[in-house]
Amino acid sequence: MSIRINKEKCIGCGRCTEVCPGTLINLQNQKAVMQYPRDCWGCVSCVKECPVSAIEFFLGADIGGNGSIMNVTEEGDILHWNIHAQDGTTTTIDVDRNNSNQY
Ligand code: SF4
Ligand code: SF4
Repeated sequence: MSIRINKEKCIGCGRCTEVCPGTLINLQNQKAVMQYPRDCWGCVSCVKECPVSAIEFFLGADIGGNGSIMNVTEEGDILHWNIHAQDGTTTTIDVDRNNSNQY
């Protein structure tokens, strides 16, 4: 599992570097760089935190994603988890930040 960072989109805010529990992402010249992709365990914290949707996460076959790519966009308190499948379809799961992590 790993992520891909779009350097064109990255604004160098550093949020991904702060939330990664493994300290796997660094800032270089005000751009986020994934330093240790093999150590990423796919917690998607960085994907969720990026304010400009610059980080994509690969949903590999090992977790049932069949090569889909996921990113997050936000509108106010609503997070849109967008899953782009290889067949060109997109599925979006909306989560209200105010109600997340409630079980
Ligand atoms: S998915 Fe989690 S472990 Fe992987 S780089 Fe992002 S924050 Fe770090
Ligand atoms: S959170 Fe997004 S914009 Fe901010 S440094 Fe990381 S990749 Fe760049």
